[in-house]
Amino acid sequence: MILKHIIRSAVQNGVLRTPLRSIAHYPIDENLYGLNSEQQQLRQTVFNFLQKELAPYAQEIDKEDNFKNLREFWKKIGSLGLLGVTTPIEYGGTGGSYLDQCIVIEELGRASGAISNSYVANVSLCMNQLKRLGTEEQKEKYLPKLCTGEHMGALAMSEPNAGSDVVSMRTRAEKKGDYYILNGSKFWITNGPDADTLIVYAKTNFSGPPKYGITAFIIEKDFPGFKRGRKLDKMGMRGSSTGELIFEDCKVPAKNVLGEDGKGVYVLMTGLDYERLLLAATPLGIMQAACDVAFDYAHQRKAFGQRIGEFQLIQAKMADMYTLMVASRCYLYNAARAVDAGIANAKDCAGVLLYTAENATKLGLDCVQILGGNGYINEYPAGRLLRDAKFFEIGGGTSEIRRLVIGRTLNREYK
Ligand SMILES: Cc1cc2nc3c(=O)[nH]c(=O)nc-3n(C[C@H](O)[C@H](O)[C@H](O)COP(=O)(O)OP(=O)(O)OC[C@H]3O[C@@H](n4cnc5c(N)ncnc54)[C@H](O)[C@@H]3O)c2cc1C
Repeated sequence: MILKHIIRSAVQNGVLRTPLRSIAHYPIDENLYGLNSEQQQLRQTVFNFLQKELAPYAQEIDKEDNFKNLREFWKKIGSLGLLGVTTPIEYGGTGGSYLDQCIVIEELGRASGAISNSYVANVSLCMNQLKRLGTEEQKEKYLPKLCTGEHMGALAMSEPNAGSDVVSMRTRAEKKGDYYILNGSKFWITNGPDADTLIVYAKTNFSGPPKYGITAFIIEKDFPGFKRGRKLDKMGMRGSSTGELIFEDCKVPAKNVLGEDGKGVYVLMTGLDYERLLLAATPLGIMQAACDVAFDYAHQRKAFGQRIGEFQLIQAKMADMYTLMVASRCYLYNAARAVDAGIANAKDCAGVLLYTAENATKLGLDCVQILGGNGYINEYPAGRLLRDAKFFEIGGGTSEIRRLVIGRTLNREYK
C-alpha cells in the first residue's frame, strides 16, 4: 500500500525508475504468538483500517512534517474505540488488555511510526497516568474526551537541561490558596504543540534530595499563563509534533494535582513498566514495515539477470531481519502478558524496549541496504523507517539508561 501510493505519485510526476507492483505485506504467522481469535481479529481490523486511512499518507506526513487530517483521524480512531483500549468502560474506554493495546500500537507503527508515537504519548503517557492515579472527579472530567478523540493528551517532564536526569528539573510550582502558580519550561514534548490535556511535572519543594518535592499536575490548554513555544524540527518522527512548553505564572487549581503534592516521582515510577512496554510496540511495527518493504523489493528487483532475493547475501539479511522481528514480537507479547497478569518487572519492560528499539534501527538499515539507491531516496519509505526507528533509542529514556536499569536489577538479583 505504501509503495502503491508512492508509485502512483511517482508515475504522475514521471519520476518512476524501477517498475514495481504494489507491495505485498509480509504475513504475520499468528500460530507463533499464541494470540486468541479475538486478538487476531483485532489485528486484522486495525490493519485493514490503517492501511486504508493512514499508511497511504505516511510518506507525505513525513515530507511535510505535518498530518493535516490529524484531528479528523483522531476522532475516527476514537469512534472505533482505539483511543481507550485499556481505559475502563465507565470512562468511555473499551477495557481491553495491555496485549490488545500492543497489537493496536504495532499496527499503527507499521502504518506510520510518527502517528503511532503521537498515539502512544496520548494513550500511554497521558491517559494511563490519569487512569491509574486520577481522582474520580479527574477521571470523569478528562478521560471520556480523550477516549473519543475530541481531546489530545501529552506528558511533559523533560526540560532543556533535564532529560535522563529528569529529577533535576527547574520548573517550579508554588501553592497560593486554592491554586498552584507554575513557572518554567518543558522541551521535546510529543503532542506539545497540539495537546488539550497535559500532565506536567514541576518542583513544589526545593529542599531535600531532588527526587522528593516533584508534583504532577493536569494542565488544560486554556489555563492562563500556559503557552506553547516553538515546534521542533526533527530527523524522524516527522508529523508527530514535538515542542516546547512555557509556563509564566500559570494558574493551576489545586484539585488538578495528580496523585499527591511532592509524590510526582511515585506517579512517574509506578507507570514506567507500562510506558516502556507500550513504547516498545511501535518499533516492532516499524520492523514489520521494513520487512514488508524489503522482502517485496527483493522479490521484484533484478540485477545480473536475476531477482536480488536469489542472492545469498540478500537472503542472509532477510533471515536476520525476520528472526529479529519474530524474537522482538515474542518478547513484547510475553512482557505484555506479564503486565496483564500483574507480574511485570522493570528488567523486562526496560529489556523489551531496549531490544525492539535497537532491532528496529538494524532492520531500518538493512531495509535501506536491500533497496540500494532507492533505499536512499525519499520516494521510497526505507529512509523514513530508519529515521523513525532511531527515535526509540533516545525517547522515553535512552538505551544507556535502559541498560543501567537492567544491569542494576541483574546485579541485585545475585546479592
Ligand atoms: C522526538 C522526541 C520526543 C520526546 N517526547 C517527550 C515527551 O513527550 N515528554 C517528555 O517529558 N520528554 C520527551 N522527550 C525527551 C526524552 O525523554 C529525552 O530526550 C531523553 O530522556 C534523553 O534525555 P536528554 O536528551 O537530556 O539526553 P541526556 O540525558 O543529555 O543524554 C545524552 C547522552 O548521555 C547518555 N547518558 C546520560 N546519563 C547517563 C548515565 N547515567 N550513564 C550513561 N550514559 C548516560 C545518554 O544515554 C545519551 O546518550 C522526547 C525526546 C525526543 C527526541
